Amino acid sequence: MEEGSDSSIQVLRESSADKENVSSYEPPNKKIKVSDVHADGKHKLEDRLSDILCCAVCLDLPKTCYQCSNGHLMCAGCFNHLLADARIKDETATCPNCRCEINRNVCIRNLAVEKAVSELPSDCAFCNQKLPRYQLDYHQRELCQERPCSCRYSRIGCHWEGPFHEIADHESNCAHPMKTGEEVMGALELIDTQQQEEQKLYNDIFSLLSFEKITFNDLQLKPFRTDDFITRLYYETTRFTAFNQQWVIRAKINSDHKNPTHTVNRSLSYQLVVKSKLTAPMMMHFLALSGPFGGIKMKSKIYNFEFTGELAETEYLDLPIDSAECNKLLASKTINFRLVMFLVTK
Ligand SMILES: [Zn+2]
Ligand SMILES: [Zn+2]
Ligand SMILES: [Zn+2]
Ligand SMILES: [Zn+2]
Repeated sequence: MEEGSDSSIQVLRESSADKENVSSYEPPNKKIKVSDVHADGKHKLEDRLSDILCCAVCLDLPKTCYQCSNGHLMCAGCFNHLLADARIKDETATCPNCRCEINRNVCIRNLAVEKAVSELPSDCAFCNQKLPRYQLDYHQRELCQERPCSCRYSRIGCHWEGPFHEIADHESNCAHPMKTGEEVMGALELIDTQQQEEQKLYNDIFSLLSFEKITFNDLQLKPFRTDDFITRLYYETTRFTAFNQQWVIRAKINSDHKNPTHTVNRSLSYQLVVKSKLTAPMMMHFLALSGPFGGIKMKSKIYNFEFTGELAETEYLDLPIDSAECNKLLASKTINFRLVMFLVTK
């Protein structure tokens, strides 16, 4: 789905060079839909509404819907994607239908469309039953007899997976509860390893919190462009003080991939740079958190680095966020986050 939406953005962009193409351009799946209806001779209200309420970019029905100042509709994912693309290319984001400027100030949510869409029927992904969209999540999660399930003995090594209506039958015949302790040890050890990794992260954070020297800063990354022939987007914070030294954070997209707009998976990485000249080495642990102003969905990852007079900057390190979250960040003007720093004292 993501892949498809990206390519349709490209297609719409290219065809926009020719104004006549824009009006006559019909994405392939839309064409099929229309001709299907004519072949049947029925033209259902819900199909006609779907054609009207769909996202102008991906043609899906939007759960969260934005509109341009002329009323063209975009789903939240495509809206963020268009703004992020424009930010990377240093262009003004425009509506794929009418080319008017789109941004967070002029585009508003359209709640009527969101509510209308939630009433339109959709097929359950597992049993093909038609249900209003607002019921779909609950049906697929809790009610559908065809929803995929795994055996309750998966923790002791049963790999059975199947539809919900077969699970009772399988579990009553499953061989795993009869296995000896010796036989299920392998499966248990695997679970232990995963839990130990999580436990280690928490232990690391707790032991860092006992350090003598801890500081945090709520920072704001702002977009800049390099002055190369082909300019590149990067982000930087203003200088901030920690442990009596001056620091900045720099961030870049997809580790400076040549054409970040051509990739579906976006990522951000950052580096911590000390701007003061250090006279003694500083061993530092640091951790980026969403902070009070960010609202980023981020996993916790602790990095450490020894800053010296010669080594003033870390490598570029992954910011542990997913691709959609990354588009959301790129679409907004600035990126807010909290950086916690722990100084190792010897
Ligand atoms: Zn869309
Ligand atoms: Zn428009
Ligand atoms: Zn179902
Ligand atoms: Zn089983």
